[in-house]
Parts: sequence; structure tokens; C-alpha cells
Amino acid sequence: MTSAGNAAVFTIGCRLNQADAALICTRLEEQGWNIVRPEYEGRIDLMIVNTCTVTGTAASKSRAAVRRFRRKHPECCIVVTGCSVEIENSDWIREEAADLILTNPEKKNIADLIIKHLEHKSISTGRKFSLEQPVEVFKEKAAGHFPFKSRAFLKVQEGCNNFCSYCIVPYARGPERSRDWEEVVSDFKQFLADGFEEIVLTGVNICAYNDNGRTLTDLLRTLSALPGNFRIRLSSTEPHPNNMELLEVMRDNPKICRFLHLSLQHGTDEILKSMNRKYTAAEFAAFIEAAREAVPGIHIGTDIIVGYPGESVELFEQGLKFIREMAFANIHIFTFSPREGTPAAKLKDRVDGRECDRRRACLSTLAADMKRGFIESQLGKELPVIFERKNQEGSFYGWSDNYINVICDDPTVHKNTITTVLAEETLPDGSIYAKLV
Ligand code: SF4
Repeated sequence: MTSAGNAAVFTIGCRLNQADAALICTRLEEQGWNIVRPEYEGRIDLMIVNTCTVTGTAASKSRAAVRRFRRKHPECCIVVTGCSVEIENSDWIREEAADLILTNPEKKNIADLIIKHLEHKSISTGRKFSLEQPVEVFKEKAAGHFPFKSRAFLKVQEGCNNFCSYCIVPYARGPERSRDWEEVVSDFKQFLADGFEEIVLTGVNICAYNDNGRTLTDLLRTLSALPGNFRIRLSSTEPHPNNMELLEVMRDNPKICRFLHLSLQHGTDEILKSMNRKYTAAEFAAFIEAAREAVPGIHIGTDIIVGYPGESVELFEQGLKFIREMAFANIHIFTFSPREGTPAAKLKDRVDGRECDRRRACLSTLAADMKRGFIESQLGKELPVIFERKNQEGSFYGWSDNYINVICDDPTVHKNTITTVLAEETLPDGSIYAKLV
């Protein structure tokens, strides 16, 4: 096949967007495009910007990326897709002179749509896009290909029905639907055949996976029973009744990483209620306790929003106390930013910007302490690690199953294979120095 030209895919945002980007790469390669990195210095003929709009910062990063690519590659065809397209008025995309705008559902046919666009040289910005009819089970009809990564992301689910009051995702990604079971299993096997040692299952709300009664835990049992030396990581999960069963599967199966990123968002019932979250702080705490009991050494990370409307100083302090008790290994901190079209954007009792910064700084300090505590708790333990890179001094860098950055100087280390090490010492950058067992 003759090459259609050089194409690059630039992705912002969550692991689901990264899984989408991999699928886009596959579809473009099937059409004869040669995939290069976005920072490639040579000619790029086609640039896909896969945007995110979950926070205001992500939206402005999307815009800056389009502008940068237009400046650096004035002749290239720029296609903008992803959540910014679904949510925002497309004026900024048009102003940045993008050539084509595609919605999330249109990503499936991205290669054909680009070809059509290039054939007709028609600039389609400004046209009205319609969302596909929601379906419960969907097929991608392509396996994601990760040209420059050692870890693969496998999309198993799309959309969300929860409508948390601050979140734009249900509007951007549509209702919950699960990817066809057979297709997921087949893609997973393909990733194993391609030599990936870690496969991350992604989705907006992967605990909601359900293909005709077959749930996420069924999927995990099936995938982890496949032969081979590999591990499965779950991307962020939402508190959900299924999660207790998830702990059992994790406990019984070492192929599933001891890792949960479980969004708490706030540590008080008042704010959780206002956010339309479906659990109380006590229920969340009970789950965390059960997780630690079932899976010793588990990494539990979370997302927290500071400065949500109505978060008084007292509620912030109360939330902080709860967060401290949870001893998270990692916290992604977000300052509340109103997303137009969500109920929270209309809430009055806003927290002043400087006060938000103060709260964010308090929480960052606490997060750093808790992270250190978690890492120190692993000293003297054996950790399964996949080493991914080697620096010029000969040190190997990798990640443990419970998501600690591990460094090892042993020259006999093999990259990209699961290796057991003994955690010996913490380093100032938050990693662990280890030796081979
Ligand atoms: S569960 Fe809530 S925060 Fe998560 S994607 Fe759905 S609406 Fe957004």
C-alpha cells in the first residue's frame, strides 16, 4: 500500500481518550497513513487533535495545541475531535483554522471522513453534528494500536448516566454503553500477542460494564484466566455496588494490579449530595477499609474537587479530615471550574479564587504526605514491576503493580517483563530504589 502521508494524533485528557487515540491510529494505518509522533520535526500531512473538556484547563490546552500545530505545520490538515467538539460552541476551533471537526461517535469512521474531506476539499466547520442513537452494546470494529507505548489501553465502556452536577461527561460522551464482549476479549488477546505486558481497561465508568448480563468482574475473570505473563490495570472506577465483588476478584487474582483510582470528590455528605454523588462518606470509607483488608498493599488514589459552591471553611476542614483518614496513595486535585450546561454552573455560593488556591495548597501538602506514607509502607516488600526504560547511567525505571515508580541498577534487568524486586529505600522524588529478588 502506498503511504497516504504522515499523520500524528495528539491527545489530551483521560485514559479513555488515550484508548480512543489508539483506535484512531489503527484506523489511519489501515488507510495507509504513516503514524508519527506529534513532535515529529519533518512534514506532517494530517494532525488529529483529540480534545478534552473535563476541566477549563484541558479545554484551553486543546485550543493551544491546535494553534501550535497550525503555526508549525501550516499546510497540514488539522482534524479536531473529542469532548470539546461535543460540548463547546465550535467557534474557537474555526478561529484556529481547523479543517475538520468530528464528534466522538464520528471517530469510528474517522479515516473515511478524512479521505472524503480531502477529496472534496470542503471545510466542514460550522456544520451541525448529530449524536448517534444510544446503544447498550457497541463494537469498535478495530483494535487500538499504540505505536510508541509499552502499555496498552483497552476501551471497554463508554458514556455515563450518573449526571454528577459539575460534570460535563454525560453530555459529551452520551449514555452508558458497553463494548461487545467478544470484541474486547479478541482485542485483549491481540495485545498479548503484540507483546504488551500491561493492559489497562478504560471507560468513563468501567464498573458499569454490562454486555447482556456479563459484568466487569466476569470480564476480569475471563481475561485474567488467559495464559501468559501479563497484568491488568483498571483505570479510574466510580463507587458502585459491584465494587465489592471487584475486590474479591482482585484478591483472588494476582494478574489484576493492586490499584484502584476511586473518585471521592469530597469528604462531606453535604457537598457529595450537592454534587449528586450516589454514596455517603461513610459508605466510601467502608469500601476503602474492605479494599485494604482484601488486597494488602493496594494503591488507592482519588480525585478531589476544592472550592465547590457551598464549600464553607468548616466543610473544607471537615472534608480534609476525612481525606486524611482515608490515607490515599495519590490525589488528583481539581479546583472547581463551572462547565456551562451543568447544574453546578448555576450554583450561587461560589468560593473566591484566592481561597480556592489556599485550599488547593493545603490539600496538596496533605496529598504529598499521604503519598510518602504509602511509599514508605512498601519498604521491605516484594513488588512485581515492569521496567520500561533505561537511562544513560544504566538505571532501569518501571512501575509496580501498586503504581509506585521503581528504580533498579541491576544490569541483568529485562525491560518490559514482570520482574519481582525488593523495595529497599525511598528516593526524594517519590520513587523506590529496589534490588532484584
Ligand atoms: S460518574 Fe459523575 S463524574 Fe464520573 S463521568 Fe459520570 S457524571 Fe462525570
